[in-house]
Amino acid sequence: MESQLHLYNTLSGTKELFKPVNPPMVGLYVCGPTVYSNAHLGNCRTFLSFDLISRYLRYLDFKVRYVRNITDVGHITTEVDDGIDRIGEQAKLEKLEPMEIVQKYTVDFHEVMSKLNLLPPDIEPTATGHMIEQIEMIKSIVDKGFAYESNGNVYFDVSAYKEKHNYGELSGRNVDELMENTRALDGQSEKKFFADFALWKKASPEHIMRWPSPWSDGVPGWHLECSAMSTKYLGEEFDIHGGGMDLKFPHHESEVAQNTACSGHGPSKYWLHTNMLTFEGSKMSKSLGNSILPNELFTGDHPMLKRGFHPMVVRFFMLQAHYRSTLDFSHDALEAAEKGYQRLMAGVKVMESMPVSESNEVDVSALAASFKEAMDDDFNSPVLIGHLFDASRQINSVIEGRLKIDASSKSELFKLVQGYVFDVLGLMSIEDTGDSALVDGLMELVLDLRARARANKDWATSDAIRDQLNELKIVVKDGKDGVKWDLGA
Ligand code: AMP
Ligand code: ZN
Repeated sequence: MESQLHLYNTLSGTKELFKPVNPPMVGLYVCGPTVYSNAHLGNCRTFLSFDLISRYLRYLDFKVRYVRNITDVGHITTEVDDGIDRIGEQAKLEKLEPMEIVQKYTVDFHEVMSKLNLLPPDIEPTATGHMIEQIEMIKSIVDKGFAYESNGNVYFDVSAYKEKHNYGELSGRNVDELMENTRALDGQSEKKFFADFALWKKASPEHIMRWPSPWSDGVPGWHLECSAMSTKYLGEEFDIHGGGMDLKFPHHESEVAQNTACSGHGPSKYWLHTNMLTFEGSKMSKSLGNSILPNELFTGDHPMLKRGFHPMVVRFFMLQAHYRSTLDFSHDALEAAEKGYQRLMAGVKVMESMPVSESNEVDVSALAASFKEAMDDDFNSPVLIGHLFDASRQINSVIEGRLKIDASSKSELFKLVQGYVFDVLGLMSIEDTGDSALVDGLMELVLDLRARARANKDWATSDAIRDQLNELKIVVKDGKDGVKWDLGA
C-alpha cells in the first residue's frame, strides 16, 4: 500500500508526501545530546518527539535505521567559535577528566531516556570514535576549495561556498544581513569572513582532548561531526534529518553546506525540526536558569512543583502537543495530563472485559482510519489522542450495555488500540513499569514500622506516620483482619 504519510519539511516549508529514497528502508539521523550536563526536560521533549516519529515509521512497516549521536567532544560554547569546549569547561568546574564528564552524563541521559520509555537508537555513534572519518571529510572539503587553514585551525569558507550554493537554504538566514547586526569580534582575524565556522580547532597545550591531524593536534568542529557520522551510517543521501528548532542555524545549515561541499547535495531529503518546551513562555534552557531536570519532576523535588509525576504522565503530557508547537510547562498542565493519562489507560485496561454479542455496532475500521489519518498528518499525536478517547468512550458504552460488539471486532479493536497506545505513543501502564511492586514493598515496610511503634506504645511516632501518609493522600485503615492502605481521592 502506498504510504499516505505527510511530513513538514523545513527545506520546502510545506507538508510533503513522504517518499523514502530507498523504500522500505528509512534512514533517520537526529542530533544527540552534548554530554556536559544532565539532560533537561526540553532536551527530553525533542528526543521524545523523534521517538514518536521513529515508532510510527516502524508501525507503518518501514525498515528504520535510527542514528542518534553523542557529542562527546568539539561542542563550543558560542556561535562565533571562540574555542571554549563545553565538555572541557565542565571538566574544569567539576575537577574531573573530560571523559569522566562524558561518561557521567551519558549514563544519566540513557537512564532518563529509558524511564520515559524511549526506544534506543539503532546506532549511537560518538564524535571521539569517528576521528578518521571527520579528518577525511575535512580533507575533502579543503580539496574542493571550500575550506582553508589558518594557524592550525581549519575554517569552512562561507564566501567561497556562497558563490556556487545557497548558505541559508535550510534556515532562511541571510548571512550578509546577519553581518550588519554582528559586531566585529576580537580574535576573529584568522577567519576570512565572520560566518566561517571551524571544521578543525587546534588544541591549546593544556588540553588533553586532542587528536593528530594534517593541520595540528586538535579537535573537530561540532557541525562536522554530524555530517561525518550521518554519511558513514546512512550514506550520502538519506531520508530524514532531525533536531530541535534551535539547531537549524548555524548547526544544520552548516551540515548542509559541508555535505554539499563534498557531494554536491545536502545530506537528507527531509529536515524535521521540533519545537521548544517553554516555561512561562521562554525556552527552557540551562543557561536561562529555568530548566527542570527529569528526575526533579519525577520526585517533585523542585521549588516549582508541589509533588512528583510518573514518567508516563510526563510522556503523555508531551505527546498531547504536536511536535511543531511549543509546549508550556506548568504544574497544573501536568496535573491535567495525569487525569487524561489515567482515563486513557483505564479505557485500555477494561477493553478485555467487554462482553461480546452476536451483532456489532462498533465501527473499528472508522476508528483505525481516524488514528492513521492523524498520524499520517505530520505525526499529529494530540489528534490521535483525541480519537483514542473516542475509542475509550465506545469501550465504556459496550461495558455499560449501551453498544454491542462482536468477537472479531473486539479482537480487532484490542489490537488496534494497543498498537497505537503502546507501540506508537510508547505509553506503558504504571503497573508495567515495575513501580507498583516497589510501592507495595515500601508500604509494607512503613506499616511494619508503625505496628512496632504501636506495640511499644510510641503513639507519637505511629500518629506521625499516619498523618504523613495522609498528607500523601494514602489512607491507612485498621480493621479486624489487619491494616489496609489505599490511595484516597
Ligand atoms: P544539546 O545537548 O544542547 O545539543 O541539545 C540536545 C537537543 O535538545 C537539541 O536537539 C536541542 O534542539 C534540544 N533542545 C534544547 N532545549 C530545548 C527545549 N527547551 N525544548 C525542546 N528541545 C530542546
Ligand atoms: Zn548535529
